[in-house]
Amino acid sequence: MTPGGAPVRRQPIAVGNWKMHRTVGESTTAVRELLEQLGADRDVEVAVAPSFTALRAVGEVLSESGLRLAAQNAHWEESGAFTGEVSASQLKDAGCSLVLIGHSERRHIFGESDEMVRRKLTGVLKQGLDAVLCVGETLDQRLEGRTSDVVQTQIRKGLGDPGGKNSGRVLMAYEPVWAIGTGRVATAEQISEVLGMIRREFIKRFDSDSAESVRILYGGSVTPENITELSGVRDLDGVLVGGASLSARGFASIIRGLGKGRV
Ligand code: PEP
Repeated sequence: MTPGGAPVRRQPIAVGNWKMHRTVGESTTAVRELLEQLGADRDVEVAVAPSFTALRAVGEVLSESGLRLAAQNAHWEESGAFTGEVSASQLKDAGCSLVLIGHSERRHIFGESDEMVRRKLTGVLKQGLDAVLCVGETLDQRLEGRTSDVVQTQIRKGLGDPGGKNSGRVLMAYEPVWAIGTGRVATAEQISEVLGMIRREFIKRFDSDSAESVRILYGGSVTPENITELSGVRDLDGVLVGGASLSARGFASIIRGLGKGRV
């Protein structure tokens, strides 16, 4: 509740994760097309996460547009002998205000542990950037009935022992691994069950205000075709979109669909 007793309004957010796609030129063209598609429509907060190489150039196109520049990953240290890594302070310097942490491709392809996720999250917050902490179960874990356990553990270990309130700078993304890039979208019931559990976990980690205000995204095969149904899911405040964000027209249509569903 707000101090006046009104329910907290969580602004819907759509984040486009371009993964390891696009050259610098292709990225700037794509973001120009996206701005054109969106016009003045700004009910939904929008962020795009291009490859590191394109961050600066995309950031220049986005400047003054109101859209946010996001990064797909960050190392936990500010600087040092970490060949091939990029720090949160470097991302801030490149113009990012948001960083994805613990994406399932980082966890499952590159072996990121919950402890690494926690250190990365801490590093990002220390720079004053917002973080999207990604959590989600594999298909085997779901079939074994372990979804809640897995997601709760990822949250607890990923957040560590923050104490106090959530600063509002941690956003959560529920991304079932089996739904990412597979065309297999989780059902509204499956999503709302986990999203509700994430909010309850925030009460335990922080307090009820933090739980009420944290924005929780769903990711996993979101498309213009399924956004209307998804946007009506209880507790859902946004979407993290991979494949479908590579089409400016498609991503704009998802953004509009999200906005309509959340009013
Ligand atoms: C993602 O990369 O976070 C994702 C959800 O991908 P996709 O939309 O392609 O499933």
